[in-house]
Amino acid sequence: MYYRIPEINYIYAMSLDEALELVEKLDDYRLLAGGTDLIIDMKIGRAKPKNVVDISRISDLKFIKDEGNYVRIGSLVTLQELVESPIIRGKAPVLSMAANEMASWQIRNMATVGGNLCNASPAADSAPPLMVLNAKLVLASKKGEREIPITQFFKGPRKTELRKDELLKEIVIPYEEGSGQYYIKLGRRNAFTLSVVSVAALVKVDDNRFSDVRIALNSVAPTPVRSRSVEGALKNKEVTYEAIKKASKEVLKDISPISDVRASAEYRREMSVALTKDALIGALKQLGIEVRGE
Ligand SMILES: Cc1cc2nc3c(=O)[nH]c(=O)nc-3n(C[C@H](O)[C@H](O)[C@H](O)COP(=O)(O)OP(=O)(O)OC[C@H]3O[C@@H](n4cnc5c(N)ncnc54)[C@H](O)[C@@H]3O)c2cc1C
Repeated sequence: MYYRIPEINYIYAMSLDEALELVEKLDDYRLLAGGTDLIIDMKIGRAKPKNVVDISRISDLKFIKDEGNYVRIGSLVTLQELVESPIIRGKAPVLSMAANEMASWQIRNMATVGGNLCNASPAADSAPPLMVLNAKLVLASKKGEREIPITQFFKGPRKTELRKDELLKEIVIPYEEGSGQYYIKLGRRNAFTLSVVSVAALVKVDDNRFSDVRIALNSVAPTPVRSRSVEGALKNKEVTYEAIKKASKEVLKDISPISDVRASAEYRREMSVALTKDALIGALKQLGIEVRGE
């Protein structure tokens, strides 16, 4: 049910410094980046801020930089810019794949990666890829900056590690050569849909054994989650279909899905196992390793 947004004080911040000053000074405010989550929240009455600080014009937060060992992404980079960036396609393909599955072209041109993370929806599609990439988030306030692993950022549905006077400045992805990466999203439709379950996988293989395995999922817990159980079950194991199939069942130890309008908890559990297997096989394929079974 939509209702008329009550009168608000709408302020444009034109620089990062200006935004940080405002968030320090204001008590009751929300930041607006692309507005694709916030405006809906305000229309349904979930968010009722007195002040909206529009950060969408801060050019300092719109960049994708390749710094060799790191890729840095400003929080105002749009989802469509992630899809189109050759840097992201080359160095963080799992993020590019995920962004390509998000929303529609129109929404992707407004929606930002920072907004997707800070909204902290359990279904956020940029979270699982950034989790398997071991991304760090740079949180800024007037007092300075701090960098935290993305796995420590989500505290619950719509709850994050951000303090009242902080904003997300950038995302830092360490670049590691030789990994296979894959993203699978299952929704209620084939496109333009929120996730029922999505799985991001990153694998490295040495002498036909898994030397590194990272798995993360969304929509199956109060926050996006890494599946350490699957990762541990495959580390140093020979790359075989049987090993992957057995280890994928371990995902059930790390998830706690609920039933909602998109799917039942039982369906989410079954799909988490199936999609973890498929994502691992997809990631291996990116390394030129074909695994077949059944
Ligand atoms: C039709 C439709 C389809 C969608 N499909 C998908 C989908 O497939 N997958 C998916 O994951 N999401 C989807 N979304 C949700 C939404 O588009 C994304 O979450 C988007 O990335 C949010 O970014 P934004 O810039 O619009 O955020 P905003 O709405 O501007 O902000 C979202 C929240 O984050 C806060 N915020 C924003 N930037 C910062 C910052 N730098 N620092 C601190 N706080 C900040 C805001 O205060 C607000 O609380 C969809 C939305 C719509 C309307």
